[in-house]
Amino acid sequence: MAAAPSHPAAAYHDVLARIARAAQAAGRAPADVTLVAVSKQQPWEAVEPVLAAGQTVFGENRVQEAMARWEGKAQGLELHLIGPLQTNKAKEAVAFFDVIESLDREKLARVLAEEMQKQGRAPRLYVQVNTGEEPQKAGVLPADADAFLAACRGAYGLAIEGLMCIPPVDEPPGPHFALLRKIAARNGLAKLSMGMSDDFETAIRFGATSVRVGSAVFGARG
Ligand SMILES: *Cc1c(COP(=O)(O)O)cnc(C)c1O
Repeated sequence: MAAAPSHPAAAYHDVLARIARAAQAAGRAPADVTLVAVSKQQPWEAVEPVLAAGQTVFGENRVQEAMARWEGKAQGLELHLIGPLQTNKAKEAVAFFDVIESLDREKLARVLAEEMQKQGRAPRLYVQVNTGEEPQKAGVLPADADAFLAACRGAYGLAIEGLMCIPPVDEPPGPHFALLRKIAARNGLAKLSMGMSDDFETAIRFGATSVRVGSAVFGARG
């Protein structure tokens, strides 16, 4: 894990600079990579300076925790759900989040489609792929991704914006990023949410269009 930055605003600017350098090194425009600042489990004292420094895109992994932190403050912000979503929280997730990155099963696709219809709200959706095929991890298996995407689009009428993955902690992430990119390409998806504090520069080299960075921006989680 990255060391706790002495000041979140300084760490935030450092991460932005590293994103820009990694993009340029890959022949890409820095503006083509979005920083999703992962504020989960962070005290407000750590989040506030980053918000004040101009960050507008934040990631959270729990619906209730996100609502408690951002309710009444979400105006002008873009909030991403990056953690597993239970169907019994789908209603709140659709009402609250701008982007849901953890779509990974048909039951959830069906419930999200129903809620979006009911609420007249359409959060942008990413399908999470379990590239490491880890039993404890959420996400569709790589071999099932094409069929799942077809079902989301066909049976449930969902527009899918991109793919998300969390590589195994004990493996080099590059092959996982490459696999996600390949699955996206053959399914006509341009957006890739991949890369965290320890590997976001590698992810950018492999084509990440958004990186989800928590501890490198805000410090170690409590
Ligand atoms: C916590 C989390 C992150 C951020 O992790 P850091 O290592 O703190 O950058 C990114 N993505 C997901 C899905 C997470 O749960």
